[in-house]
Amino acid sequence: MIIGVPKEIKNHEYRVGMVPASVRELTARNHTVFVQSGAGNGIGFSDADYLAAGAEILASAADVFAKAEMIVKVKEPQAVERAMLRPGQTLFTYLHLAPDLAQTRELVDSGAVCIAYETVTDGRGGLPLLAPMSEVAGRMSIQAGAQALEKSRGGSGMLLGGVPGVEPAKVVIIGGGVVGSNAARMAIGLRADVTILDNNIDTLRRLDSEFQGAAKVVYSNRETLERHLLAADLVIGGVLVPGATAPKLVSRDHIARMKPGSAIVDVAIDQGGCVETSHATTHEDPTFIVDEVVHYCVANMPGAVARTSTVALNNATLPFIIKLAEQGYRGALLSDPHLLHGLNVMAGKITCKEVAVAHNLAY
Ligand code: NAD
Repeated sequence: MIIGVPKEIKNHEYRVGMVPASVRELTARNHTVFVQSGAGNGIGFSDADYLAAGAEILASAADVFAKAEMIVKVKEPQAVERAMLRPGQTLFTYLHLAPDLAQTRELVDSGAVCIAYETVTDGRGGLPLLAPMSEVAGRMSIQAGAQALEKSRGGSGMLLGGVPGVEPAKVVIIGGGVVGSNAARMAIGLRADVTILDNNIDTLRRLDSEFQGAAKVVYSNRETLERHLLAADLVIGGVLVPGATAPKLVSRDHIARMKPGSAIVDVAIDQGGCVETSHATTHEDPTFIVDEVVHYCVANMPGAVARTSTVALNNATLPFIIKLAEQGYRGALLSDPHLLHGLNVMAGKITCKEVAVAHNLAY
């Protein structure tokens, strides 16, 4: 198959659809990979690295789109990219079509086969191509929180792990899924005093078994949540109710009663946030303060560590890319029900119920 990797064009997007190591896996299987010149420059993958992996470098995105049977990207195609798609061409990338009518219509009109990373499933009910970004955001949340506690950011001036003779900070993690468990690993590593709250008993059992007492694992209800919030130095918001906006578990009243100089990292901000006082922020200006509580609410946290994020994402997407290349989209989709869940638009039709329902369109 002929595979194309264009340079991402969304503002401040440095990730790339395929790293040189993945290109090498494809070329070793006798597939052709066209990479747009400079596609990996922002994260240290040069054209020479791609050439060494067997790719061919093309000057423009137009060349890549024109020659490739399958386009592999990271972000949803922008309008100028959507105009370059053609009937029967495969597009494999994050799409997030439910809130984006213009993109949905144009992908339908393109006639392309559009497979979205975010709706590919696995055998355990998980979303394997979303999980790597939650792992990154979860781990990063502790770095972000540690900085938010510094005086220069308006924090209380506490070091997460303390030092001999000084108590560590209390880190309270709401939601013990992928984000929460990764945040806990980092916080425990820094020797903070860690508590994880979740309302799923099976999740609590799994966390209890994993952390063996290094983190307190507590059932989340109004009473436990409030008690731990008011004692916290750093709160990580990592809840998710699939398909829904995040529940506002931390109220304005809680914020007013939290310790002055404490901090909240609302990772769930991409789903609206689980804190009533949150609003989305950017990497350029990541924090703001409400009632002396520092809020960090960056909606695309993995973008800050684009190199790690790209490799993590590519590790998860590569088996599907290989399958699509080896079997073509028909064979790959028909032989893998989990990949089939990723199919959002095909041959002029919406094929994902949630997307059709969101836009009141036929599917
Ligand atoms: P997940 O499904 O693995 O975990 C969510 C957890 O929340 C589950 O364990 C669930 O039981 C728990 N939960 C749900 N309702 C709860 C409640 N009322 N009280 C306590 N716990 C509750 O999800 P995840 O992959 O960890 O993602 C968490 C959030 O982080 C999502 O909103 C995701 O979109 C977001 N996220 C944000 C960024 C970013 O850059 N800001 C990056 C990646 C993920």
